[in-house]
Amino acid sequence: MAKVKTHIEESDILVVGGGMAGTGATFEARHWGRDLKIVCVEKANIDRSGAVAQGLYAINCYMGMQWDENQPEDHVRYARNDLMGMVREDLGYDMARHVDSTVHMFDEWGLPIMRNEKTGRYLREGKWQIMIHGESFKPIVAEAAKKSADKIYNRIMITHLLMDNEKENRIGGAVGFNMRTGDYHVFKAKTVIVAAGGASHIFKPRAVGEGMGRTWYAPWSNGSAYALPITVGAKMTQMENRIVLCRFKDGYGPVGAYFLHLKTYTQNANGENYEKKWYDHTKKMVGEYIDHHPTPTCLRNHAFIQEVMAGGGPIQMVTKEAFQDPHLETVGWENFLGMTVGQAVVWASQNIDPKYTNPELTTSEPYVMGSHATCSGAWVSGPEDLSPPEYFWGYNRMLTVDGLFGAGDTVGGSAHKFSSGSFTEGRLAAKAAVKYIEDKKAEGLKVNAKQYEDLKEVIYKPLENYTVGRNEITGGTVSPSYILPIQGLQRLQKIMDEYVGGISSNYMTNDNLLKRGLELLDWLQEDLENVGAEDYHQLMRAWELKHRALTSQCVTEHTLFREETRWPGYYYRGDHLKLDDENWHCLTVSRRDPKTGKFTMEKVPVYHIVDEKKDKKAS
Ligand SMILES: Cc1cc2nc3c(=O)[nH]c(=O)nc-3n(C[C@H](O)[C@H](O)[C@H](O)COP(=O)(O)OP(=O)(O)OC[C@H]3O[C@@H](n4cnc5c(N)ncnc54)[C@H](O)[C@@H]3O)c2cc1C
Repeated sequence: MAKVKTHIEESDILVVGGGMAGTGATFEARHWGRDLKIVCVEKANIDRSGAVAQGLYAINCYMGMQWDENQPEDHVRYARNDLMGMVREDLGYDMARHVDSTVHMFDEWGLPIMRNEKTGRYLREGKWQIMIHGESFKPIVAEAAKKSADKIYNRIMITHLLMDNEKENRIGGAVGFNMRTGDYHVFKAKTVIVAAGGASHIFKPRAVGEGMGRTWYAPWSNGSAYALPITVGAKMTQMENRIVLCRFKDGYGPVGAYFLHLKTYTQNANGENYEKKWYDHTKKMVGEYIDHHPTPTCLRNHAFIQEVMAGGGPIQMVTKEAFQDPHLETVGWENFLGMTVGQAVVWASQNIDPKYTNPELTTSEPYVMGSHATCSGAWVSGPEDLSPPEYFWGYNRMLTVDGLFGAGDTVGGSAHKFSSGSFTEGRLAAKAAVKYIEDKKAEGLKVNAKQYEDLKEVIYKPLENYTVGRNEITGGTVSPSYILPIQGLQRLQKIMDEYVGGISSNYMTNDNLLKRGLELLDWLQEDLENVGAEDYHQLMRAWELKHRALTSQCVTEHTLFREETRWPGYYYRGDHLKLDDENWHCLTVSRRDPKTGKFTMEKVPVYHIVDEKKDKKAS
């Protein structure tokens, strides 16, 4: 360990993760905190990192308030409806009232946003989405962050948060290592904004073996956004609310532009509209929620899954009609070329031309995140003017650890933020973090050397495990004394898949399976003490795995706690196969005790602060 060089950096605001939320936070921190020291640390390189690395074809969250297209209330109703009632409306409203200003900045910064030739307005793909030529979306927002930060560190993975040694439950910074040089980095900071993205690859993916690494959400989103706060005892919410996506098979190509802009539709293998067939069945499970418009995403998945189980597969997207129009054909291909090139390659390799063949769809393995059509993440304070007392403790987007803030996928309860909403939430968190510092809440902060020297031992241990253990075998990858990150990952995915409602069980789980899953996860965590890393890249894999494992444990605890099937199509509790508004019209909140590692769970009321009257119209 003596060989490893240590760098110490002190700052006022430390942003962990330079994706959409992290770049938004870095930019806004400078706006309010002109003299503050702002540092952003990114695992990859912020020019091409995070879920938007490859670009996007649409900004999925834009109100259009300047043209009275939508108001924030409409968005709250929309998200609430899609999440079967379970959202933090204060957070959703707060994001929605600011998101347009974010998009206008993207426009100023040179992001090509398509315009409707007749009206001059941004071209709508759907009620909430506007179309962009977005291949360079990420470099554009990265530039704004680079110009704002005192320093951007690329290639550093943050593994742990630091706590103040003087004041209980107050943040003190973070530590990590550079995966190119191997150097150890200590970041002491008055406030930390965690913006480290969602969690893919915690459930066994459909693409295995030769297709491993192909996932819907970014494969490098490894749950750090959850594991970092969970480890220091921050409360989490709605972690059971994993998302399953209906996507083009094998390439996970998105379907939004196809449904909304190309007006394509789905059918079963016999050419039938299968969604109608499952109406009565679904109504028995969820009651009037099936009559809401638009149909909640999970319920559409539910019909898909039931139809396949009943033998009606494969489900297809009917593209043959739309692709006869040369304009729509171009849009159909460009949609992938700007965001999921792999789907075009998969179709080419499988001899599928959507003009002549209706491509197959599939339902993905589950993912955990807080910014898409799902709302798992940290339990945060809302804004002072909107939040009921139970949702407010001083600073907007502050977690239940003092001085620790979150944004984007990190934050739970506020779904449908997407790229623009995540950037906006980063801005909101940064503004509050500046205020926290101005209010002198971080005075007297002390982080002693013992704390980060102890963590250094822990962080580099996988290298030592490997170096020592490798001498015990003459070849191959199976060792009696260490487990490789890939082996641990596959074991994790198998547990989550078979016990917590993955693809192999058609998303089904129950009390007994979840309890057994928790036991197996405990033993996995024990074995991860012996994970072995042969180089710094594998050290990153080892820590990604540890973060995924802790995130998975939290997901499993939440799934066990909520004794109902709130989102059929995302997962099913076979022992409670109905939505149960009487007992479970509430948010779930967990806390893991950092000393004992035990989770405690509670129900928290869900407050509807936006009226219901327009629900039937919201779309
Ligand atoms: C396939 C796909 C399609 C999408 N389509 C759209 C769309 O059409 N329109 C739209 O508006 N939105 C879309 N989204 C959603 C949008 O990309 C996300 O909502 C948004 O990127 C979330 O922002 P974030 O900052 O929370 O996470 P990210 O943007 O993923 O950023 C997280 C960052 O944290 C870094 N990081 C992770 N762990 C660590 C660590 N331990 N230490 C340091 N850094 C770390 C990552 O490298 C990454 O840069 C899509 C997402 C995906 C995956």
